[in-house]
Amino acid sequence: MTEPATKQQWQQRARELRYPTGHFLDGEQIAGGAERFSVINPATGTPLCEVAAGSATDIDRAVASGLRAFKSGIWRRMAPRDRMAVLQRMAQLIQANADRFALLDCLCMGKPVNDMLNIDVPSAAQNFSYFGELCDKIEGAVTSTAADALHYILREPLGVVGCIVPWNYPLLMSAWKVAPALAAGNSVLLKPAEQSPLSGLLLAQLFVEAGGPPGVFNVVNGLGPTAGAALALHNDVAKIAFTGSTTIGKQMLVYAGQSNMKRVSLECGGKSPQIFLADLEDIDRAVTYAINGIYGNMGEVCNAGSRLLIDKRIAGDFIERFVKQGRNAYRAGDPLDPATNLGPLVTGKQQKRVLDYIERGKREGAKLEFGGDTPDLPGTYVNPTLYSGVTSKMTIAREEIFGPVASAIEVDGLEEALAVANDSIYGLAASVWTRDLRKAHTAVRDLEAGVIWVNCFDHGDMTQPFGGYKQSGQGRDKCLECLLGYTQTKSAWIHLGS
Ligand code: ADP
Repeated sequence: MTEPATKQQWQQRARELRYPTGHFLDGEQIAGGAERFSVINPATGTPLCEVAAGSATDIDRAVASGLRAFKSGIWRRMAPRDRMAVLQRMAQLIQANADRFALLDCLCMGKPVNDMLNIDVPSAAQNFSYFGELCDKIEGAVTSTAADALHYILREPLGVVGCIVPWNYPLLMSAWKVAPALAAGNSVLLKPAEQSPLSGLLLAQLFVEAGGPPGVFNVVNGLGPTAGAALALHNDVAKIAFTGSTTIGKQMLVYAGQSNMKRVSLECGGKSPQIFLADLEDIDRAVTYAINGIYGNMGEVCNAGSRLLIDKRIAGDFIERFVKQGRNAYRAGDPLDPATNLGPLVTGKQQKRVLDYIERGKREGAKLEFGGDTPDLPGTYVNPTLYSGVTSKMTIAREEIFGPVASAIEVDGLEEALAVANDSIYGLAASVWTRDLRKAHTAVRDLEAGVIWVNCFDHGDMTQPFGGYKQSGQGRDKCLECLLGYTQTKSAWIHLGS
């Protein structure tokens, strides 16, 4: 359990931390083969560990293990309340291992340790308790049919579900997929992102410690184009649950078509607009949300509020306040320091990508209000950046940057704001700030996005379906609908005679 600790204590814990670097198969950590890939700590630029690079054979073996467990019925036919108890214990174990999870993700991808403790770990635990709670609430139906027949509908698990997850919330994104898949009675094969391969192994270990049967939850580490592709192309995998880039999301659909038409759920990129209308109630509150909506988690968030669509009547004032408050709100530092709220970007490659976009913004004529540079630290940091004078045709307003870069676009009233907001291939999330009820509901009706916030941003709980319109994906995470996405219906038509 986590006691409040100082930066020095966290650094000491990081030095003492021991963890497996292979795969998790049939209830055990295994070393994996000689083929390895390096994980670099982005806060220091130094190598952290070498992790097993799973091959198609490793994927085959793990899928076979999951399928064996599935067919044996050891999990799917367990009494739902017993499955529930396992998942509830798992939620407790996640919380009890908060320190370890915090360190593992922090060291791999640079997330501030306090974000892990306050957001990722409790939210991951909540996924297991929420979906665990639903185990015995997955119901079929008896339909109204003629008297000579009884027709009922069963909801059954799918089989082996492959979960392919990204590096921005390694533990939490795994929990979003693994928890509902397990709650519905499936076997799971998790393929973590190669930048953050460690916390998934601990998660699978805890499932077994919680009483989950071996083989039901396996993990194969490895690179996307090899291990990821082998999993998504596998003929014995019933569904791929994916979060990642839109490019690879589309590839998942191709893999499904090239193999067994497996189900695919996708949560991909975003370019979320926040609309600030002239009549909003509290400009300082709105500015605070705008700042946190784009700079939290270093901007490495699929629903990051990266486009600020500000009514021209308040734009000057809004931007002035944003600059004043925002330029110092996020301070780069060692992610192991509880005072740090801005860690490095995940890799040098990502840092270069973000800096290239910043350069592009300058070239295309946007006005740099602050940031645009890197702090004097050894890691792959980028300072929080704000551009004003952005138009919706500029690259920084169109493409997902996945970094701490906000683009302020002036708009003239709601109608124009909605047109600009929807002028995107993405549609993950959006918000509108107004005191006018009619405008708020009009925005909810007309915004093309899966998640809409009114007078807030990034609020929600487990009941909220999370997922995108357009090229932000298909399918929903969290919520009951998500759980049902890991089931299929079976119709039983019983002839009774007259
Ligand atoms: P990002 O660009 O943010 O790293 P990706 O979409 O490339 O996001 O990665 C998300 C997940 O998809 C990771 O687990 C990664 O290993 C996996 N992945 C990447 N490329 C492929 C691929 N060609 N086939 C299957 N999985 C892949």
